[in-house]
Amino acid sequence: MAKPISEQADDLLWSIRGVNFGYNGTPVLRDVNLELRCGCCYGILGPNGSGKTTLLDLMGGLQSPQSGTVEFKNRPLDAWPKKQLARQLALVPQDFMVRFGYSVREVVEMGLHPHLHRFAAPSEQDQALVDEALEITGIAALADRPVTRLSGGEKQRVAVARALAQRPAALLLDEATSNLDIHHSLEILHLIRNRFEQQGMQVVAVMHDLNLASFFCDRLIFLKQGQVVCQGRTEETLTPETIEAVYGVEAEVTVSAFTNSRQVSFRLPVAP
Ligand code: ADP
Repeated sequence: MAKPISEQADDLLWSIRGVNFGYNGTPVLRDVNLELRCGCCYGILGPNGSGKTTLLDLMGGLQSPQSGTVEFKNRPLDAWPKKQLARQLALVPQDFMVRFGYSVREVVEMGLHPHLHRFAAPSEQDQALVDEALEITGIAALADRPVTRLSGGEKQRVAVARALAQRPAALLLDEATSNLDIHHSLEILHLIRNRFEQQGMQVVAVMHDLNLASFFCDRLIFLKQGQVVCQGRTEETLTPETIEAVYGVEAEVTVSAFTNSRQVSFRLPVAP
């Protein structure tokens, strides 16, 4: 099981204070304040368009807040040298796009770059990391295939493999299993959870499926219209009241004897 959350300052990963962000003058995130600490897998949930991807992009340094601050390990993200940050953070985006005909192996090898000296070729040890990432994500058989000729689900597994080869301190996942069938979703989430528990890789995942979030995440952050409406331990936040308030859907939450986690069922019809 995950270590209990600690309130010690040096456990602090992200400190997000008073963040506002919008595109072309339209506000998307409004006064977001969050602290994310070591020792918990975090899930970010909320309806389409609520700002989940934007928040993840800000946490990964792909966007800068228009007001407020985003710090990672007590340093503003834009003050981190790029290569150093790439050794700390890996992002698995929602739409993983690689143009040109790079092979699967070449794309996964790109995860090694933050650790290599300029112009240095990957060592045998580096290659072993790539082999391992290909193996555990179930894409070793596709290693020589051009990524442009993969299915959406296979591409998602390549993106996860590249992120794992990067050996980040923290992994940001944006709906990383949305194109995967249930078997592959569970497999990928299980291996990421193992990395977290056994190697201490911290995880923040944007997720849609409340039931998958329930057994993957220790803490949940619910966004609605760009604001954090609820956050805390999964067992305290995943309630019918939260689901109704965030999604406008009537739900029942029970503890499943089968999974030993909270599972959600929904009632039809939903209000328009
Ligand atoms: P979510 O991940 O919760 O679906 P997003 O963060 O992707 O939400 O988007 C929040 C809002 O910002 C949406 O209304 C979306 O249309 C808008 N948006 C996202 N990216 C862009 C962009 N690059 N340019 C303009 N608007 C954007």
